[in-house]
Amino acid sequence: MEKREQLYEGKAKRVYATDEPDLVIVSYKDDATAFDGTKKGTIVGKGAVNNRMSNLLMRLLEKEGVPTHFVRELSERETVVKKVSIVPLEVIVRNVAAGSFSKRYGVEEGVVFAEPTVEFSYKNDDLHDPLLNDSHALALGLATKEEIAAIKAMALRVNEVLKAYFLTLKVRLIDFKLEFGRLADGTIVLADEISPDTCRFWDATTGEKLDKDRFRRDLGGVEDAYNEMMQRVLGGAR
Ligand code: UDP
Repeated sequence: MEKREQLYEGKAKRVYATDEPDLVIVSYKDDATAFDGTKKGTIVGKGAVNNRMSNLLMRLLEKEGVPTHFVRELSERETVVKKVSIVPLEVIVRNVAAGSFSKRYGVEEGVVFAEPTVEFSYKNDDLHDPLLNDSHALALGLATKEEIAAIKAMALRVNEVLKAYFLTLKVRLIDFKLEFGRLADGTIVLADEISPDTCRFWDATTGEKLDKDRFRRDLGGVEDAYNEMMQRVLGGAR
């Protein structure tokens, strides 16, 4: 496997071509952004935590029948994944009210839902990732009806698996964001990452936030929170 030219640089990762047309290498950075890119910073060691945690969770999900882009971990920060074209939807699953849900609907953070919710945002920086529903996604040609149904079912399955897994580590999975991609043959697979950047994790005993909200809200102890989550995941994986 040979690493070739950089194809793309995002806020938290770089993507490189390889000598195999169906595979790319993702490289995780320590750069952090929030609030539509207006808040910028560095979380030392974040790239390594997110890479390793995401890979471990993708492997767990594969075992539970969820197809993912994961192929193999190359190093602390680099992973080989299947090349996909990303469906331009941010798929957000929520178990407990927090963040933009609490703000938009005037619900206190921490209110537990009877059933998980799934919502979509249109992944479009120029438009600031607006919230949209299934029919909007269809009208915009972002995905087909069948793809939307498959994505929702997979997102809820991911939630079931991860919620139960994190509870064994004394962590409540509050909400998270997923992205899906299409392989060359059109198959939908889970892509991007699952990490403290993309999930809200609350300590099950103390309620302490163990995720990117520590950075967003200037709560301090950002690196400690990422490391604590990594330790729990590594401990639980043994
Ligand atoms: N999220 C994300 N990327 C985004 C927006 C949200 O990973 O661009 C994650 C976020 O970390 C949280 C969940 O999706 O776990 C729900 O986020 P929310 O809509 O509440 O937005 P926020 O309050 O983060 O702006």
